[in-house]
Amino acid sequence: MVDCGFGLKETIDRLEKYQINPSKITSILLTHEHEDHIKGAFSLANKFQIPIYLSYGTYQMSHKKINDGYKIKFELINNFDSFMIDDISVSPMPVPHDAREPLQYRFDCMDKSIAIMTDLGKITKHVVQKLSRINLLVLEFNHDEEMLRDSDYPASLKKRINGEYGHLENKESLKLLSSISHSELRWVDSCSSK
Ligand SMILES: [Zn+2]
Repeated sequence: MVDCGFGLKETIDRLEKYQINPSKITSILLTHEHEDHIKGAFSLANKFQIPIYLSYGTYQMSHKKINDGYKIKFELINNFDSFMIDDISVSPMPVPHDAREPLQYRFDCMDKSIAIMTDLGKITKHVVQKLSRINLLVLEFNHDEEMLRDSDYPASLKKRINGEYGHLENKESLKLLSSISHSELRWVDSCSSK
């Protein structure tokens, strides 16, 4: 599981809808410490004894939220090294975002690969390189430069949304997609958050 932004009950309810038994989840990978990514992660990990993989910075910024008495196994990630979870090779990607040490992930198994990219402020060479020859990409992009400029948001908010440590702008995402496009990239799914 990558991130867990819902509370424990809602997470379990949603998993049930997809007939996923939470006790069958073998690991939770966290991308960063923002609440909409970790809200239910610790309670889920504690209840079903699921190890959590995360960067040192994410651990530092979030461990105070762990209830006393929780027993959770943490695995600190070496940000540039791939590692195995069962037969899946996980490649972390450090990304620009306004968090302590945010990561996104690519997964390779057999000869197929997928990546989930949320919370990316700016395209980097490293990201483009890491997304080479993937088969499926989930990409978050959530604002349009002109609409933002013409909106009545306060200047400080406009600056944050438009900054290099927020989320990808619509046209930027198109740039990213065209730079990684190849014949084996079969599925692209978009997601957006508030
Ligand atoms: Zn975030």
